[in-house]
Amino acid sequence: VVNAGGGWAGSLAKTFGEEVPMFSAGPPQFVTEPLPYMLRPIVQAVEGDVIVRQIARGNIIFAGYPRTRSQADGEHTYVPPQKIVQGMASLASVVPSFANAEVIRAWSGVEGYLPDMLPVVGPSQAVPGLFHAFGGSGGGFQIAPAVGDCLAAVVADEQPACDLHPYRIDRFNVQLETSEKITTEFD
Ligand SMILES: Cc1cc2nc3c(=O)[nH]c(=O)nc-3n(C[C@H](O)[C@H](O)[C@H](O)COP(=O)(O)OP(=O)(O)OC[C@H]3O[C@@H](n4cnc5c(N)ncnc54)[C@H](O)[C@@H]3O)c2cc1C
Repeated sequence: VVNAGGGWAGSLAKTFGEEVPMFSAGPPQFVTEPLPYMLRPIVQAVEGDVIVRQIARGNIIFAGYPRTRSQADGEHTYVPPQKIVQGMASLASVVPSFANAEVIRAWSGVEGYLPDMLPVVGPSQAVPGLFHAFGGSGGGFQIAPAVGDCLAAVVADEQPACDLHPYRIDRFNVQLETSEKITTEFD
């Protein structure tokens, strides 16, 4: 059995007696009214607080960081109105001609985070035959091929192509000095 429950994987792990200090958050996403098409590449600000592209129809689609913590139920991440104002200011700093665009829709989603920003990938330490693959944070699509390849090897009792030791589930049994600092970067 592979626990690949995303932002919900922590509560699934808990049912097997393995607790992890997981929390959920999501990046606010916005789409604007269509404007004349002029931005062909996808642009990411070097400091990483805005990612923007424009589709041929003219709508601007952008993400405005920092991420927002999910609701207490862990199932939804609402986008507070001030994030739209904040996101538009970030967008205008990257592409000034977009400053007066009207945002017509905002949304987010649920990403599962561990305090050290690394995923959990590998066998359960509590239940034989159970494996975990979760905590992809904001980069879960990017790491998915490697996670799938390495975990498949472990499940088949073969040597994985990468060292999974840093991603073991029991690494949180010791208090992480940095966990407080990292988790407060979300608002
Ligand atoms: C708005 C947004 C933009 C993003 N952009 C990027 C990006 O550009 N690049 C990138 O790499 N990543 C990005 N991510 C992050 C990426 O989506 C996640 O890291 C990735 O989806 C994690 O994959 P996963 O399979 O671990 O979890 P998920 O994709 O969350 O899948 C978990 C699945 O488990 C199901 N599930 C939960 N509980 C149960 C249960 N009890 N029984 C059965 N099923 C259950 C859920 O319904 C869900 O389908 C973005 C996320 C968001 C929200």
